[in-house]
Amino acid sequence: MNDETRRAIERDQRHLWHPFTPIDGWLDPDFEPVMIASGDGATLTDTEGRTYLDGNSSIWTNLHGHKHPAINAAVEAQLGRIAHSSSLGLGNPAAAELAEKLAGLMPPEEGPFRVFLSDDGSTAIECALKIAWQYFQQNGQEQRTEFVTLSGGYHGDTIGAMSLGKSGSFHAPFQPLMFPTHEAPAPDCVRGPGWRENPPRTPAHRSDHAGAVAEQALARLEALFESLDTRAAALVLEPKVMGPGGMMMQPEGYLRAAAAIARRHGALVILDEVMTGFGRTGRMLAQQHEGVTADLTALAKGLTGGYLPLGATLIRERLFDGFRGGLERTFFHGHSYCGNQLGCAAALANLHLFETEPVRERVAALADNLREASQVFWNLEHTADVRQEGAILAVELVADAQTREPFPAKRRLAYQICERARHEGLLTRGLGATLFLLPPFCTTPEQVRQMVQVLEKAARETLSGLA
Ligand SMILES: *Cc1c(COP(=O)(O)O)cnc(C)c1O
Repeated sequence: MNDETRRAIERDQRHLWHPFTPIDGWLDPDFEPVMIASGDGATLTDTEGRTYLDGNSSIWTNLHGHKHPAINAAVEAQLGRIAHSSSLGLGNPAAAELAEKLAGLMPPEEGPFRVFLSDDGSTAIECALKIAWQYFQQNGQEQRTEFVTLSGGYHGDTIGAMSLGKSGSFHAPFQPLMFPTHEAPAPDCVRGPGWRENPPRTPAHRSDHAGAVAEQALARLEALFESLDTRAAALVLEPKVMGPGGMMMQPEGYLRAAAAIARRHGALVILDEVMTGFGRTGRMLAQQHEGVTADLTALAKGLTGGYLPLGATLIRERLFDGFRGGLERTFFHGHSYCGNQLGCAAALANLHLFETEPVRERVAALADNLREASQVFWNLEHTADVRQEGAILAVELVADAQTREPFPAKRRLAYQICERARHEGLLTRGLGATLFLLPPFCTTPEQVRQMVQVLEKAARETLSGLA
């Protein structure tokens, strides 16, 4: 280990607190943390000079690769002017242009949209939640105070976002701090009715029984809204792919029908596209797959191409209009860095790439490569599902494929497999016993094959060592 690495690890272990990281494991003297020094395209290099494939796009943020010349140039040009000025009572051209571009992602026939800029995914959700609440409070529907969510959903780690996506494993200690919400079951095609008829090597959410699973989940959702009468403020969900909770994928038609149920009951539709946004599922926004237009859409992760923290909430103009007036109708909400110019410049450069390069075709080709390579995962005796939407791949492993009995969470199987994979040059993370690959769009076919090969080998070796 060289001096730079040693010093970085010493400082880190002495002073840093890492997110979502069990402390004893991180501080274990036998554990050697990776210190990232640089990145290029789909690769990351550590302070020891070892290069890794970035199999999860640096936690799903990076789209076009690291050190992208166009985004680098845009950020550098913005730095030459100003890095940040406040959006409280002041405007700036970068934020204004970004708002126009983001509003333009929504279908024109749905009417104009507004943009509220914030810092990350949690703040984009928090903003949507508070707008929905205050809108009803001051527009004659004070009784609309209830939020409907899906089980297994995740929307971030601030208190409001946690309340909407109560993750048992992440958020249990905070239960008393969260406000009550109503949870409808998500369509679980891996374990839902009819899973035993799942034909071999077919992703559960695309097999014949998926329709029945969706129908059952929708019936529960309908009953829930029915029971809330006119008290429902909004349905909040991740469209098409429920990411952090385990990359659960929804059957075709589920999103459209769920949104229709909420609308029929006068509730708003809030879609969390923090992970699915910006081409990851094959369309610019995942809601476009089913012709749904959310009243409020939360965006973050890929917004800046994975460069800078920035969140955005897209808001139907009708809701904005409900805040017109003076002090008494104002949305008193915001952050010091709202409208940050550097973040906006990176986001504009990211969006510009979608206009000037064949990004959609690139994602389609990447998705094809992933699909082809990932078939090998079906050969593992513990595989319950190999599923994919666009450039999102998930492999769900279970203790017993015949009964779908899960591996105990404390085994941290995905973690163990990913640890093994990192020693072979692949960086990615999973959840429980589900493995994820979400490579940057610039990943070459050869790099995709390598990612899959390393992950499959790591899974096979880890599983065979279990007994
Ligand atoms: C990552 C994520 C969030 C939270 O975003 P942060 O930027 O981590 O606050 C919310 N929802 C989904 C679907 C996410 O993937």
